[in-house]
Amino acid sequence: CGIFAYLNYLEPRTKREILECLIKGLQRLEYRGYDSAGVAIDDDAEGKKTSIIRKIGKVKMLEDKIWSLGNLDFYESFNTHVGIAHTRWATHGAPSDLNSHPHRSDETNEFVVVHNGIITNYSDIKQFLLKKGYKFESETDTEVIAKLIKHIHDDHPHLSFRELVEQVIQQLEGAFALVLKSTKYPGQCVATRRGSPLLVGIKSKTTLASDFIPVLFSKDHRSFPILNIPNNSGMKHSESTTEFCPLGENKEVEYYFASDASAVIEHTNRVIFLEDNDVAAVSDGRLTIHRLKRAIDDTTGREIITLKMEIQQIM
Ligand code: GLU
Repeated sequence: CGIFAYLNYLEPRTKREILECLIKGLQRLEYRGYDSAGVAIDDDAEGKKTSIIRKIGKVKMLEDKIWSLGNLDFYESFNTHVGIAHTRWATHGAPSDLNSHPHRSDETNEFVVVHNGIITNYSDIKQFLLKKGYKFESETDTEVIAKLIKHIHDDHPHLSFRELVEQVIQQLEGAFALVLKSTKYPGQCVATRRGSPLLVGIKSKTTLASDFIPVLFSKDHRSFPILNIPNNSGMKHSESTTEFCPLGENKEVEYYFASDASAVIEHTNRVIFLEDNDVAAVSDGRLTIHRLKRAIDDTTGREIITLKMEIQQIM
């Protein structure tokens, strides 16, 4: 039960380097306990194809499977990659390759998701999606998220990736930390949490322009009545406030998402701990944090904290 994601915007990296970074991140989360592991990464330079590799057992077994695949040295000249990784502690569906994360929307891997936690209303969502013709390939609660986001996207293709995730989490009950990637939104990654921990690591070549990320609120955060009313047409989608890049205009930044700081500390000590219902999105090298509703006690932003932690050696 761990999440690690890596978004490279700093220097061109090979597919091998991205995978090495993901495997290392998963190894640092091994102490949390798990029964299987998996990764999803860009499979072409434009991010319009995604590969998923999953394996029951130790991260070492996933790693052996990955290195046996070959063809890992491309991407030399392309410098945005999104990789997401997961160690699973099964709650719904036995430990198996098929139940391992990342889960996907469809055979083309259009939307992929990693999830820590439990979606308590997954069977209602699953029934709804089965009626819509979606075919499920795992017994997990998580797979409904990948299918639901595709369903909303297909009905509302004008929504941004972040707005899609906002729609999805309004349908979810239970506890979750999620990181999603999509071939429809190359180079982008969206992460959110409710009741399960998740942080953003920020690595920059230059000093960050600010120690603070303002939280943005969607102007109209009505959700589509996805589960109870079959026809979504005519609904207004949420308009976001103006995008703002507090970290400066340059793209000299790498981002990490992780369920705990031990996975990112070897890369950076600058982190933001996300709060419940934060939706953090990285697009075009920029990080934004949105919330659906302003609560009475909401602060206006998230501080970028400097961690004081030792880097533990991996045995
Ligand atoms: N409930 C999900 C599953 O069983 C996620 C478990 C976890 O946190 O690793 O696949």
